[in-house]
Amino acid sequence: MAFKIPYGRQHISDEDIAAVVDTLKADFLTQGPRIGEFEQAFAQYVGAKYAIAVANGTAALHLCTLALGVKPGHKVITSPITFAASANCIKYCGGDVIFADIDPETGLLDIHQVRELLNNAPEGTYQGIIPVDFAGYPVDLEAYRELANEYNLWLIEDACHAPGGYFIDSNGQQQLCGNGVFADLAIFSFHPVKHIASGEGGMITTNDQKLYKKLLQLRTHGITKNPDLLQENHGGWYYEMHDLGYNYRLTDIQATLGNSQLKRATEGITRRQAIAKKYDNAFRNTSIKIIQVPENQGAHAYHLYVIQVNDRKGLYNYLREHQIFAQVHYIPVHLLPFYQQFGWKKGDFPLAEKYYAHCLSLPMFPTLTSEEQDFVIEKVLEFCQQ
Ligand SMILES: *Cc1c(COP(=O)(O)O)cnc(C)c1O
Repeated sequence: MAFKIPYGRQHISDEDIAAVVDTLKADFLTQGPRIGEFEQAFAQYVGAKYAIAVANGTAALHLCTLALGVKPGHKVITSPITFAASANCIKYCGGDVIFADIDPETGLLDIHQVRELLNNAPEGTYQGIIPVDFAGYPVDLEAYRELANEYNLWLIEDACHAPGGYFIDSNGQQQLCGNGVFADLAIFSFHPVKHIASGEGGMITTNDQKLYKKLLQLRTHGITKNPDLLQENHGGWYYEMHDLGYNYRLTDIQATLGNSQLKRATEGITRRQAIAKKYDNAFRNTSIKIIQVPENQGAHAYHLYVIQVNDRKGLYNYLREHQIFAQVHYIPVHLLPFYQQFGWKKGDFPLAEKYYAHCLSLPMFPTLTSEEQDFVIEKVLEFCQQ
């Protein structure tokens, strides 16, 4: 068969293209009306009060650690099974990244391990936690909030994999990923491989008005023109810079694409969940390990569909021979050479390392055809049952 199937792929519709062309013909290329429209629509989609569009997901993380005041000597806990950016944002502010092992049943940062870290350290040792909705599996943020309150910590939800996912809280309510009810801040990415593509792009969501205002300033050099905030006022041209911020703005062009894609987000999630169900059914009762969210606990957003197999390298290579480009998510962050220089080493987190040794992300994107998926399933089973 002549398929060439990646693990993820963006989909740009004619409507997306028409919308972007309209913006190109309009007055603003950056920080025009499309930014606010996208922010509003996205906040509504995830159920948060405020949204701040930024240049990419990594910039979103950096602004969050800045806004929460991470400084040299601060210790922040995150998962070893995530993209490096979840940890890097702590280093950008000079803080120390502390990892804890994962729960092998979910692939997520294990809250019991985090609690143990907190229990065994003097009060005030840690400042925050960055849990990740890895692959799209929603973190139980209610539990993390309780823990964070107990130890006076802040929470950043890295929800890059999970727009549209939710967990069910202790009152039976659906809590959408990034809705700002439990975490202080949540972040998303609009990299082409994620649910919504804007080229490069990111979003921060929050229900905290103070953090929201701070983030707006930090996104544009720490500069404000808001008359209520100025210490002096020399005239219409006047602005003040209050903090060391960055240029982390999104362009109107990107916001237009993101907002147009957002209109198909619900459709996209439904399709992703249908693809997952078909994989689940094909791999059940085989040696292949799959991860599912129990129905009464929430809904997986399926940025990734990850299986765990005995011979992962063999399967990876076998699939490539058949033009199926599966991927590995992730190389444990504590084993990346940059982090090893801080003393992290092989054996520190055996469950994360075991997960890494066996995991493989199969093709998962809304435009994956039924025929393509059948071919992927056939090749995976062929290899695993030989
Ligand atoms: C993609 C991703 C990021 C970074 O987003 P960019 O837009 O690529 O900067 C951060 N965290 C996780 C978990 C991601 O998957």
